[in-house]
Amino acid sequence: MDDSPIVQLLDDLVLAAVGRGASDIHLEPQEKFWRVRFRINGKLVVVREFARELLPPLLSRLKIVSQLPLDEHRRPAEGKWLFRVNEQTTYDIRVSIIPFLYGEGAVLRILKLLGMQPDLRSLGFRDDAVCASIHRTISERSGLFLVVGSTGCGKSTTIYTLLQMLNDGSRKIITVEDPVEYAAKGISQVNVAANQGLSFASALRAILRQAPNVLFIGEIRDQETAAIAIQAALTGHFVFSTLHADGVAGAVSRIENLQISKCLIGATIRGILAQRLVRCLCPHCRRQYPLPPALAQRLALDESVRTFQPGKCEKCRQSGYDGRTVHYEWAPLAGKGTQPEKLQNHINDCRTMTFSASARQLLLEGRVSADDILVDYANKFY
Ligand SMILES: [Zn+2]
Repeated sequence: MDDSPIVQLLDDLVLAAVGRGASDIHLEPQEKFWRVRFRINGKLVVVREFARELLPPLLSRLKIVSQLPLDEHRRPAEGKWLFRVNEQTTYDIRVSIIPFLYGEGAVLRILKLLGMQPDLRSLGFRDDAVCASIHRTISERSGLFLVVGSTGCGKSTTIYTLLQMLNDGSRKIITVEDPVEYAAKGISQVNVAANQGLSFASALRAILRQAPNVLFIGEIRDQETAAIAIQAALTGHFVFSTLHADGVAGAVSRIENLQISKCLIGATIRGILAQRLVRCLCPHCRRQYPLPPALAQRLALDESVRTFQPGKCEKCRQSGYDGRTVHYEWAPLAGKGTQPEKLQNHINDCRTMTFSASARQLLLEGRVSADDILVDYANKFY
């Protein structure tokens, strides 16, 4: 093991980032210094500033571990680094290096390698009935399962957890993503890079000829991918995909806007999960706080309910928060046909968990702050 200061510095930065639950590390050259920022709970935080001379050797070390050419300084480069912490934990780090005005800079995206035991509860799906219902739905032989939400709301993490639940060796599972976000054993992953001549749609058509049982289409983003996803779901494949939409109802109108008929939507969709991530309060320093009347009314909660707001302590580095959890709604549609003209109402009626019910659970458990739920309302997520 090389213990030179530069090797140690890079390892320490990654360990500090994973220790603080960061999703990515940014090494940024500035005019007179370079700085390190971590993205924690979706927000960039400046961690440290260093003398400029330290960045080139650090980037050389980064290129070595991610198998990138050491003598290339003018073109962007992408690599991958498996960072092993101990027996149980290895991180898959995607490295992107780009030459900027003041020299090369890098972004390290930290992906955890999927564990052997996929677990919806650990993502924040704590309702046993919902977990059982999701499990029943993904066990169907064909159909479409949508996870919807905005960018960075954990859609891929949820889908990979579900794919792992199905990854028992009896099914051929293929993913088509731009880019692949997780490293998963036993699953065939196709990284689509439009600039290398492989378009999403052409990759999908080729993959259907590989006779998969389960398919994950990274995102339904246009009419062509929507049509292929629906076609695959109709012809004996179980298809997972994601959409940008606020909730279950929004997902249906979004697909309709991609020229898919209500009839086909009704015939293929087995379940829609809408999710977003909310910050979890640090359990060590959260403070009691009266429930804001506006929220009590909206969520039909008694105003005497105890809620919490963030505090400050050593354990959460004075941030008041500790990780994130999902806030979601779930509509299982398996085997429940309806007339096309009633589809929207039907899908809303199928919801066995709504954002409001999910918010009530999170507040009553003291896991999130009323303020963060109110921000959700302000953003019209309900
Ligand atoms: Zn704390």
